[in-house]
Amino acid sequence: MRLFDLHCDTITECYLRGCGLKNNDLSISLEKGKYIKNWCQVFALWMKNEYRCQAACDYFDGLYNCFLQEIDKNKNMVSFCTTSDDIKKAIENNKIAAILSVEGGAATAGKIERLRYMYDCGVRLMTLTWNGQCEVACGSDIEGGQGITPFGFEVIREMENLNMIIDVSHLNDIGFYEVAENTTKPFIATHSNSRTIKNHYRNLTDDQFKIIRDRKGIVGLNFYDAFLPDNRENGCDGAFRNLYHFLELGGEDVVAIGADFDGATMCDDLSGIDKMGALYEHFLRMGISESNVKKVFFDNSMEFFARVL
Ligand SMILES: [Zn+2]
Repeated sequence: MRLFDLHCDTITECYLRGCGLKNNDLSISLEKGKYIKNWCQVFALWMKNEYRCQAACDYFDGLYNCFLQEIDKNKNMVSFCTTSDDIKKAIENNKIAAILSVEGGAATAGKIERLRYMYDCGVRLMTLTWNGQCEVACGSDIEGGQGITPFGFEVIREMENLNMIIDVSHLNDIGFYEVAENTTKPFIATHSNSRTIKNHYRNLTDDQFKIIRDRKGIVGLNFYDAFLPDNRENGCDGAFRNLYHFLELGGEDVVAIGADFDGATMCDDLSGIDKMGALYEHFLRMGISESNVKKVFFDNSMEFFARVL
């Protein structure tokens, strides 16, 4: 099996708990994922709502150093990729391809130079907000929140200039449409499900999904139990229902995996990287063609990154 996962918070957990990436009790460890033939993993540095301005910069730097140290400690297994050629090379060398993202525009501290600095650090995707308000936009948790701020418009322009991928997961609906209307490149939702399947404001409406599809972006299925249908026993089935609906919307080349490991609570059957083989089998058993399952697990994301990075 090959897996390309668009979102996890594992580095944040390693940093906060002081544990390593190779062996730990988290949902992702390098050892647990060893059975995966080719594994590409986007590691997000998650910006908490508590940190803004200089505190956000310092927090980013702490997380980033933790990421670099973990990559260095495990360089026989993982390689840090900032281009699609790096990803292809990692795969050829049987290494895990690690791609770096930031979850929360607070990491910019309201300065465009800070965005460029993050790009120079190797960050290739940014989720514009987390749940709260930041300098870039308002997250979907804030009732009656505004969309993209004037600085946020500058940020999305510069992200397109730099070729940094815009991630709309966590944005509210106003912000989503402002991104769609004010950008030209493909943008993505790294870890968001369907609002038709589970009516939660963090999930995408059918219209939003189609906009991402038409822009040639991708959408990662999220395994957080609150974003799946209310069956806590069977997360695989909830993931399947989201996948099926997205396929019905013409999402064959759009749906991917964005598990949200180590950032959310999950049903037992989806609770870690070691469960992904069983999910793959579940999708096949439910009648999804093998070529489509491969697309969801790997090919759609690989094709996207090969095209844009
Ligand atoms: Zn998130």
